Amino acid sequence: MKFIVVTGGVMSGLGKGITAASIGRLLIDQGYKVVPIKIDPYINIDAGTMNPFQHGEVFVLKDGTEVDLDLGHYERFMGVELTGEHNITTGKIYKRVIEKERKGEYLGQTVQIIPHVTDEIKSWIREVARKNNAEICLIEIGGTVGDIESMPFLEAIRQMRMEEKEEDFLLVHVTLVPLDAGGEQKTKPTQHSVKELRELGLYPDVIVGRCKEKLKDSTKRKIALFCDVEVDAVISNEDCDIYEVPIKFKEEKLDQVILEKLKLEKRRESDEWEKLVKRMRELKEEVDIAIVGKYVDVKDAYLSIREALKHAGISVGCRVNCIWIDAERLERESVPLDYDGILIPGGFGKRGAEGKIRAIKYARERNIPFLGICFGFQLAVVEFARNVCKLNASSAEIDQSEHCVIDLLPEQKKISELGGTMRLGEIEVTIKPGTILHELYGKEKVYERHRHRFEVNPEYVPLFEKMGLVFSAFSDNGKRMEALEISKHRFFIGTQFHPEFKSRPLSPSPPFVGFVRSALLFRKERVNLC
Ligand code: GLN
Repeated sequence: MKFIVVTGGVMSGLGKGITAASIGRLLIDQGYKVVPIKIDPYINIDAGTMNPFQHGEVFVLKDGTEVDLDLGHYERFMGVELTGEHNITTGKIYKRVIEKERKGEYLGQTVQIIPHVTDEIKSWIREVARKNNAEICLIEIGGTVGDIESMPFLEAIRQMRMEEKEEDFLLVHVTLVPLDAGGEQKTKPTQHSVKELRELGLYPDVIVGRCKEKLKDSTKRKIALFCDVEVDAVISNEDCDIYEVPIKFKEEKLDQVILEKLKLEKRRESDEWEKLVKRMRELKEEVDIAIVGKYVDVKDAYLSIREALKHAGISVGCRVNCIWIDAERLERESVPLDYDGILIPGGFGKRGAEGKIRAIKYARERNIPFLGICFGFQLAVVEFARNVCKLNASSAEIDQSEHCVIDLLPEQKKISELGGTMRLGEIEVTIKPGTILHELYGKEKVYERHRHRFEVNPEYVPLFEKMGLVFSAFSDNGKRMEALEISKHRFFIGTQFHPEFKSRPLSPSPPFVGFVRSALLFRKERVNLC
């Protein structure tokens, strides 16, 4: 078993996750079984309770674990499906250690960070790698080298390096190479952060320099000399589209450097990713999609949606421009929403909900392609109840109105008194034949990820169907509505599940493909009319 560890220096937000995911992609393309693990040094057990304003989107895995958005990058780049065990946090490690201590498993010893916490970290990593039959285990350490929180993890990695054979272990350090006022590439921050790493007993084998532009040979030589790595192992990573990173790395021969250092053979050379990037570079058309949400100032809050739109765009042949619209603004003023499509993402709580309902009404009445996800699906039901069925309706999450068309199911209400939780993770969904959704997926049973508490109130389903709303998918033996559509609309689909979490550049999500295709057609129709 080989281990590749990715650390980061200088500052956060350098795209360590993308670097790790791209390395994973390159090695998969060489025919290896790569298993990623993301280490988040925060104390939270998982990212479920973290505010998107601070942390970006909460990504949901198949088993329902709520994780950092980097895990989404791994799934998208590497085409894998991960579970909670692929995400280690300080909280999870300490929880295990404390539980063991309570059970008396430490036989009266003083429980300490070294060796007990570090042992727990190492055994977690090795266990996940072994269970998943990894040939290469790729470990990304969140945060920046030097942070207090990441110390136990870096120490565990240091120990692992000693315990493993030299050719089984590789450390990639990602740093920043800024440009000074005169445009010169500065290597000092890199030198300092490597020094910090060395003080912890870790030595990089590869240095990835993030820079606005390509690293010059002279810069590479300087980094190699001062940081004691080979020149070939200094890899340039200039600003570019994230899906280009694996290709750029390949041009820099990073895959060869890694294979050589780990004494691995080349097995095959897949050009799937290159073809994808080529298609992406050659997109000629474009569409403008309005995304009406609450966290529009933090673009990462809707990262998977943005990526899913991009994947769909590549497959139907257009670039997707996201126009971010603050839902609360729609409550205060009338904002024209004449875009090629309108998308309402998931969300929670009252703030901005009425604005989202207005956007849905706009899309429905003006025949603009619409996609509503989770909260967006639920609010499409509320909008329909209010403006088509003329009910004084709402969702129990927003208001206790006369008609709670979105509500907890009776059995959930009982649980919720006990502090009921969310319905999370992958669940089987049955699609009704003859619907647009069925045509998009091309099958009746699909498995999609969920993250919600509320449901369409089943009492109102017959009325809605009579009035022209089609519920096109179900789960839980028909008890829960999973999707809706309006057949006479150009494209009006809502899903209770989150299709964006399973969308990949190489296998885009069907509802997104349908939506973007329809937006493109709509745009062309309008251009022809002018
Ligand atoms: N707030 C809604 C619910 O809990 C929708 C959740 C979401 O959009 N992820 O059911």
